[in-house]
Amino acid sequence: MQLKFWLGASVLATAAMFGSAPASAQGSLVMYCGVQEEWCRAMSTAFEKETGIKVAMTRKSAGEVYAQVKAEASNPRGDIWWGGTGDPHLQAAEEGLTEEYESAMNKDLQDWSLSQWKAAKKRAIGIYAGALGFGFNTQLIKEKGLADPKCWADLLNPKLKDDVQVADPNSSGTAYTLLATVVQLMGEDKGFDYLRALHKNVSQYTKSGAAPAKAASLGETAVGIVFIHDAVVFAVQGDPIKPVAPCEGTGYEIGSMSIIKGARNLENAKKFYDWALTPAAQALGAPAKSYQVPSNKNAPIPPQAPKMSDMKLINYDFVKYGSSAERTRLLTKWDKEIKAQP
Ligand code: PLP
Repeated sequence: MQLKFWLGASVLATAAMFGSAPASAQGSLVMYCGVQEEWCRAMSTAFEKETGIKVAMTRKSAGEVYAQVKAEASNPRGDIWWGGTGDPHLQAAEEGLTEEYESAMNKDLQDWSLSQWKAAKKRAIGIYAGALGFGFNTQLIKEKGLADPKCWADLLNPKLKDDVQVADPNSSGTAYTLLATVVQLMGEDKGFDYLRALHKNVSQYTKSGAAPAKAASLGETAVGIVFIHDAVVFAVQGDPIKPVAPCEGTGYEIGSMSIIKGARNLENAKKFYDWALTPAAQALGAPAKSYQVPSNKNAPIPPQAPKMSDMKLINYDFVKYGSSAERTRLLTKWDKEIKAQP
């Protein structure tokens, strides 16, 4: 899929479409949120304020939301699944766990966002994009006498033993993106060899994908494999962490949104969906320290957002790696061949 990142954005007024905040409550909405807690809260609070619809929000990692939506399929409790990597959204779409929807906002979206919508047969849409990489603690790397790591290969250095953190791909969309990225970048056998070698340096597989960025910023680990924008969060606040786009090339995510099949508050879920695609709603990411590239062409790109156009991005096959069979197969193989190693 070709990415065309739109630069020089401007915010358009979209309030007219949704009106101003009503005086009385308009029912409720159960939101499963897949990004950082702070952005999840900013979105739910702003939507409540604008519409009077009461939002019950829970933050979970992408694989966890997928598992919850699947477990609740016979008695759905959630209405909208907003955020998190696109692969589990695509898997849910294929398994009929989410609803088809076509928003009037589609006309304003980037091609990569609509490609996700088409791949999901209208059951998921792209809301932001971000590239995978890592962040390293500049002091710890210096103390170890290492040159700044620039490539995936650099993370295999034995001097980094027990000093790399990454999440578990079963729970985390970030870590599944790593798994699918190395398989596409290196081929499956070499990709698994890489993960096997990396395992020797991994001190722990965290539940949440962004946690290793915080650990690297605090000096609890020398390297955290994360979405680059998650490392930027700590770099811009002056922590000793440097974000890296790996030299061999890297994968990326199309963060997505889906309406849950059997949603009890379907009309409110559609209202949220339309609103979440507006420039005004997409502009809420940056103040909540989330520096992805938004999917609405008229939404501002945060100045802190890593420049994806300057990176060597692989041609990530979202259809294949978001398919139920492939995602299940790779996760099972990772459990058996990587996590189970001593
Ligand atoms: N945090 C941010 C800012 C993200 O963009 C994403 C992915 O969409 C995540 C976290 C993913 O979280 P996890 O890897 O825990 O599923």
